[in-house]
Amino acid sequence: METIRNIYCIGRNYRLHAEELGNEVPHSPLVFLKPTHSLVEANGQEIVLPANRGQVHYEMEWILYISKSQPAGTPVEEVVSHMALGIDFTLRDVQSELKKKGQPWLLAKGFRNSAAVTGFQPFPGVEKCASQSFSLYKNRERVQLGKIRDMLFSSQQLVDYCAKHFGLAKGDVIFTGTPSGVGKVEDLDHLELYWEDEKAGECFIKLEK
Ligand code: ZN
Repeated sequence: METIRNIYCIGRNYRLHAEELGNEVPHSPLVFLKPTHSLVEANGQEIVLPANRGQVHYEMEWILYISKSQPAGTPVEEVVSHMALGIDFTLRDVQSELKKKGQPWLLAKGFRNSAAVTGFQPFPGVEKCASQSFSLYKNRERVQLGKIRDMLFSSQQLVDYCAKHFGLAKGDVIFTGTPSGVGKVEDLDHLELYWEDEKAGECFIKLEK
């Protein structure tokens, strides 16, 4: 895997996903972080997730790899060199409790192996991606379909926002948010991630008590 530094994640970046969890659509990007210890590759291996902290949900996401430090306003193509797909694994019951208390999401989003990432491929550019889609299959059944053009905040807006507020540099990645269709994983589930018709990665779930 490329060396990854900061893991920025975007919440509620697809209208239908915000609605399926009963959330309002945000007026500016909702950003949270995952620790680098949450990283795991999705290259066909088993991924161990916690079994005893309520439901674990999959959230398939399009991931941008930052190759250069540039000020906000720089075209995405000059900042992003590669892309991948990934899964933002989420302890949904824990997150619901944290939300009720108004507390940060780290416990629900930052546990080990919660950031699964496929292999990276060269970034084909904003225009090409605009017409493309990505999908997640669980046990050979499609459970999520994301269209890049349905993102509430575009890759340019996300890159600008992160650059302006937090800084972006080589090795940072942005999980750009999940489309609708999130759901829970069970022990032995097989997850496959596709960019258009091409398989980008896969993994098997091991829930460990
Ligand atoms: Zn997410």
